[in-house]
Amino acid sequence: MLSWLPASADSDRRLGCHWPVRSTSVLLVVLSGPGGAGKGTIARALVEGDAALDLSRSWTTRGRRADDIEGAYVFVTREEFEEHREAGGFLEWNEFLGELYGTPVSNSDRDLLLEIDVAGGHQVLEHRRDALCLFVDAPDDEELRRRLLARGDSISRADQRAEEAIRERAEADRLGYVRVVNDDLQATVSEIQSLIEAARRQV
Ligand code: 5GP
Repeated sequence: MLSWLPASADSDRRLGCHWPVRSTSVLLVVLSGPGGAGKGTIARALVEGDAALDLSRSWTTRGRRADDIEGAYVFVTREEFEEHREAGGFLEWNEFLGELYGTPVSNSDRDLLLEIDVAGGHQVLEHRRDALCLFVDAPDDEELRRRLLARGDSISRADQRAEEAIRERAEADRLGYVRVVNDDLQATVSEIQSLIEAARRQV
């Protein structure tokens, strides 16, 4: 399906949310989905294979994890995050399992890939209904849990994330996200590249 306009994006604008992406011809690609679905690997492959696409680097208050690649996040204290938020420094932000995550303001004219959760994608859609929103999913819940444990999550954290995945999947459907099942990395990347190319022809 090559349609990504949300069925509905009702208004719950977040306090302090700022919308300074300059050009509406900039394509925003939102990559959401449960941890363990492979978003990070897919995001890197997309950016490496596309000279016109930049990866947004989020800020987070969570601690560094063993599988975080260099430069994955800007790691900050809660105080630093809140200060930046009050100054209008985020395009969108959200609290996920007790930690804050936010997309910093971009002044770039290049297409931008945001690896964010569905609540963040919702905020993006409120400002840019033409954003391409993709929900990357694992083939099934058992495989998702297995991947989370394999990457070092504790059992309780993996359970929490698996629960959260069910809620996010439903919300993504409601918002009109395109769902992409990652059972083969290269095939998934190719599928998303085709969706991006189709979206570029429309912005
Ligand atoms: P993790 O702790 O596994 O790196 O990320 C937890 C969740 O936060 C993931 O769903 C990830 O996509 C999301 N996330 C990462 N950065 C941002 C951000 O800047 N904004 C929002 N809304 N979510 C983010």
